[in-house]
Amino acid sequence: MDETTCMVDIAKFFLKFTVEESCGKCAPCRIGTRRMLEILEKITSGNGTPEDIERLERLAVAIKEGSLCALGQTAPNPVLSTLKHFRKEYDEHVIDHKCSCGVCKSLLTYTILPDLCRKCGICAKRCPVGCISGTLGKEAYVIDTSKCIKCGACEQACKFKAVVKR
Ligand code: SF4
Ligand code: SF4
Ligand code: SF4
Repeated sequence: MDETTCMVDIAKFFLKFTVEESCGKCAPCRIGTRRMLEILEKITSGNGTPEDIERLERLAVAIKEGSLCALGQTAPNPVLSTLKHFRKEYDEHVIDHKCSCGVCKSLLTYTILPDLCRKCGICAKRCPVGCISGTLGKEAYVIDTSKCIKCGACEQACKFKAVVKR
């Protein structure tokens, strides 16, 4: 893990594992971890709110206290520790609706920097939904963000680093 690792995404990754492994015997683990995962999915898809973070914290504590075995008792740890040490990343997701690590796809926007664009048109040819337009050799290319499916093909295709994701 480094600065390009999204901590909210990491918490979601570990929680998915727990949800799959829960045997279902006790409600806090069986239902609670699933609810936590749903909240994390809501946050990483750009629909989270500050109240979701509070709900996540409350659920995490309740699951730790109410679960029968170590699986449920430790399941919320990735959420609690990332909340403790990387709270800013959670806030960024629910307040600014951004993932500065560029991991949470729904929160990304692909843009072409006109000053760097060499008007070669390669990105437009690679775009699977045809949402990049411009005039070869004359006009900098632009992305219609309302149609962009965030596949990243344009960023990979551009040799001039004119396509950026934010
Ligand atoms: S805490 Fe343990 S017993 Fe309870 S549902 Fe989870 S795995 Fe099963
Ligand atoms: S590939 Fe890069 S330089 Fe070429 S048109 Fe697209 S953004 Fe501009
Ligand atoms: S990210 Fe994909 S869909 Fe969006 S503009 Fe680039 S190539 Fe097209």
